[in-house]
This record gives sequence, C-alpha cells and structure tokens, in this order.
Amino acid sequence: MKKGIILLGSTGSIGVSTLEAIENQRGEFDVVGLACRENGQLFTEQIRRFKPRFACLFDEKRAGTVDFHGTKSLTGEAGMKELLKAEAEIIVNALPGSAGLNPTIEALRQGRVLALANKESLVMAGRLVSKLAREGSAQLIPVDSEHSALYQLMEGIDRYEIERLIITASGGPFRNLSREELGNVSAEQALRHPTWRMGKKVTIDSATLMNKGLEIIEARWLFDIGQEKIEIVVHPESIVHGMVQIVDGSVLAYMAYPDMRIPISFALNKGQRRKLPFGKINLVEAGTLTFFAPDTDRFPALKLAYRALEIGDSALITLNASNEVASSAFLEGRIAFTDIPVLVEEALSRHPYAKEIGDVETIWEIHGWAKAYLEDHLRRVDA
Ligand code: MG
Repeated sequence: MKKGIILLGSTGSIGVSTLEAIENQRGEFDVVGLACRENGQLFTEQIRRFKPRFACLFDEKRAGTVDFHGTKSLTGEAGMKELLKAEAEIIVNALPGSAGLNPTIEALRQGRVLALANKESLVMAGRLVSKLAREGSAQLIPVDSEHSALYQLMEGIDRYEIERLIITASGGPFRNLSREELGNVSAEQALRHPTWRMGKKVTIDSATLMNKGLEIIEARWLFDIGQEKIEIVVHPESIVHGMVQIVDGSVLAYMAYPDMRIPISFALNKGQRRKLPFGKINLVEAGTLTFFAPDTDRFPALKLAYRALEIGDSALITLNASNEVASSAFLEGRIAFTDIPVLVEEALSRHPYAKEIGDVETIWEIHGWAKAYLEDHLRRVDA
C-alpha cells in the first residue's frame, strides 16, 4: 500500500527536494496534501504533477494566483489546520521559521511520522516537542543534514559511550572576512552560499552562523544531551555532516555528498536506506577534508545560542524570534550584517524570563513580545 504524505513548504528548497525524492520511489508514496506560503506558479505546477487531494496556500491574498485543478483548495491558518486532519502516515514539515511550530505540535499529537526540517519548532518548543515525541505514538525523524547524520550514528552507540556530539558548519560565505569587512556586506552577498542552495531565512542564518546556533539547540532537544557536550567544527567541504566522539577518544563520522535528498529519503522511509540515483560520494574527488574551530568573536551567534540554553526556555524563544526580526531587517537594508547578533543580544537582555515552558500559548506570548520589542527598538533607531 502506498504511504500517504502531507508536505508543508512544498515550494521551498527542501519541499522541492522532497518531491524529487518521492518521484525517485515512484508508486510508493501518495501525495495527499501540499502546502506553501505564496509561490502560486510553482505550486500550480506541483498540484498538476502530484494531484494531491488537498492543497493549501497560506497567504490567502494570493489564492487567485493558483490553479487548483479540481483539488480541494484551502487557505490560511484554518486551511492549514484542515489539511493536517487529512489521512496520511507521514508529515514533512519544511516550513521556514516560526511558522513551522504549530504543525509540528499537531503532527506529534496525532501520532504521525514527522519528518522535521523546520528546526525552529525545536528551538522554540524543544521541551514540549520532545515530550510529545517521547510519550505518544508519533515518530520524529530529523531532516536537517547534521541531525540526520547524528541520528544515524547514534543508532549503533550506547548513550554512556557518548563523549560529545560534533556538528559541522560550512562556515558560510563570509568565513574569511574580517570584522570590518563583515560590517559592510550586502544582503545580496549574504544570499550566496558556497555549498548549499536554500531559502532566504536559512541562508542568512548560515552567513551569521545562527543556523549552527539553532542546530546546537535542535540537537540538545532531539538527543536529550547537555549543551556542554555539543561542539561546532567548521568544515568548508560539507562532506562530514556529524560526528560522535566516543569515551575511548575515537570519533565516528557520517559522510555524504551535500545533497538534501539523502537525509530526506532516509526520513521518508522511516529510517530505511534506499538506493538513490543521486549524490554518490567520491572521496578521491573530495580530496582534502579540513576542520577548523569557529571564530565566535566574528560570529557571536554561537555564543548566544549556548547562553540562551543556559538561561532557559524563554531565552530560546527570544533568540529565535529576535533573529527572525533582525535577519529580515538586514535583508531590507535597515541594519548592518554585524547588527544581527547585537539585536539578538539586546532582546535576550530584556526578555521576560522563565526557566521551563511546556505550553504553546506561553511560547507564542514570548515570541510575540520579542518581535514587538525589537521592531519597536528598530523604529527608534531608524528615527
Ligand atoms: Mg543543517
């Protein structure tokens, strides 16, 4: 029997790769539902090709740009809720940013298999999300390449053998720039990533290294491990994605060609590995693999992530929300690249503190506070 799939964020880079992975296993999956925010043209093509029963365009104002071809058309928050009720074993959450949180919680409450590419839901609500994943019948499989690597490595390791988890970072497009040069980079330069092709939000996060900061937090909750045991290593070739250092001093590493269809395929098949026609790694071609310590003075986002983990859940929500506001302000040309971590730090120093948060209402409340606080702060600076 075909496995039903609902794909959220179908027109983004993970969404497109997911549909390619599905086509690679022709006849095995049934695309029950698709959702995206606003890209009507690509969405129309996807609807024509995959013939889902439900299609949801999140931005209601753009509904006229989509030809639904007789598929049940849904829009907005209410449409998203209805889509998530459709019968399907697997939900792929590839929405960008905080928009991914509610669908993650909903999918876990319903006991689905959740292939999670939206790291922000674990950053904002790691305590709640990991509790739901542990207690119910749901299964959470990470799609983020580094976390997929660690997930696969840890299957063969006993917990007491783990000394630390190592997440690699490409270092982003500005790895070699001085602090002064970083102050002058444009949004256009930041959107050119050396190894991965991704959406705007995650590309800016990669340039500031906040993406790695979010990934530290993601790993903390996914693998229930203290932040002092999570390390970031810069590895510009992006061949090694994750490593586990064992108590005997050895390191187990997961290597793969940097192609998101590999971790996506692993998640869609619930941890089974399939023959893939793409992304075969050639180590001789890869040649030299290099590793460096990250420079947290030039890229303070890593320090901020560790600090937020030490402070507590309210700080994690604030870090995520303020990063969303600051990154958009940079994309709009309102602030300098180096202002992004400064603004996150500003919000962290003022936020309403709570050590542990287990309900989604409080999470959205603090998220809303952080966004409003920073937007107000930015208006005052602009004036
Ligand atoms: Mg990643």
